[in-house]
Amino acid sequence: MSPRPLSDFPRRRLTLLGATGSIGDSTLDIVARHPERFEVVALAANKNHQKMASLVARFHPAYVALFDSEAASALAAVVRSSGLNTRVLHGAEGVAAVAMLPEVDTVLAAITGFAGLAPTIAAAQAGKRILLANKEALVVGGAWFMQTVHDRRALLLPLDSEHNAVFQCLPPADTVRGERVAGVRKIVLTASGGPFLDFPYERLRLVTPEDACAHPVWKMGRKISVDSATMMNKGLEVIEAHWLFGMPADDIDVVIHPQSIVHSFVEYDDGSTLAQLGMPDMRTPIAQALAFPERIDVGVAPLPLLHMKDLAFRAPDRARFPCLDLAFDALRAGGGASAVLNAANEVAVAAFLQRQIVFLDIAAINQETLAALSAVPAPRSLDDATALDEEARAIARGRVAALSSPNFS
Ligand code: MG
Repeated sequence: MSPRPLSDFPRRRLTLLGATGSIGDSTLDIVARHPERFEVVALAANKNHQKMASLVARFHPAYVALFDSEAASALAAVVRSSGLNTRVLHGAEGVAAVAMLPEVDTVLAAITGFAGLAPTIAAAQAGKRILLANKEALVVGGAWFMQTVHDRRALLLPLDSEHNAVFQCLPPADTVRGERVAGVRKIVLTASGGPFLDFPYERLRLVTPEDACAHPVWKMGRKISVDSATMMNKGLEVIEAHWLFGMPADDIDVVIHPQSIVHSFVEYDDGSTLAQLGMPDMRTPIAQALAFPERIDVGVAPLPLLHMKDLAFRAPDRARFPCLDLAFDALRAGGGASAVLNAANEVAVAAFLQRQIVFLDIAAINQETLAALSAVPAPRSLDDATALDEEARAIARGRVAALSSPNFS
């Protein structure tokens, strides 16, 4: 059989949530390489209106949305003066609106943090094909988010490199269903270990935000870079894997793999272990999900097998990086515990980046907030999720204030 001609494939019409971040950069690089396949209908971001103005000039979206209303006004003035037809929306409503546009079939959900939850839920409610990079839809939304995806016949494809690797190692399916696949024994997520992998505990006291954001392999935003340094990122990914693939906490393992070449493993009952390998470049998982079920060239070189050093794997040090087990604890506790942990961590990481607390305080704040608010019901609506998020943030902020006060140092 000859290959299907390109004209048979639908041109994907995209909304990109988180357009000015690193996932946005990688996605737009792919779009620019394949204009015959992908059209940008809408772009959304937080407040970087200068970068958004340059993206509007380059990709001519029909809509843009910025959370920050002042930034949106500044952007609207630039768009007007340049004579473009792009409509500028603002606020949480504007960002959610571009996730639900009837003319869009695919929504890339790449807004970092709790702020990304509402527009991702909106995309699910509108039955979109969702390419998911926002962890919080699963960590906070959990069963409610997966049920919404199912009820509204949305399609869900993971963009996080580990979960995309697992998806590629599972039997072919057009969506992630949140149900365990028969014959799968375990999912093993790989972790680079971050910039402090071999630091002794005492040295972790002295690390700065700059140290934490200098990741040895991946180039990412500041929040996720700090999460990678504490291993909270891997903990959140364990929770993500639970919801995406229907695996209980006991059947999800984490292994340190500093080279970040193997992006995760799936172990089967018959003794087979499947892995997905590739250069640590986010364009690969994004391209896999964007073009699925096809494969397209996005400028990522294959692995230079003959020039590669030995691939190493070892167990994570759970004492030096307690955030990993906090995530397992929250997952096992169930209910809203994962949402509490996420909120505490967002507050703690922001405080660390502002030099209000030291690196080791992040785990302490997460642990104390989780202990103070462990038996809470799982959110079943955006109002529930927001109320729980605010309650947990208030506790975490109290801990930040105590730890950053000179009286306590
Ligand atoms: Mg990841």
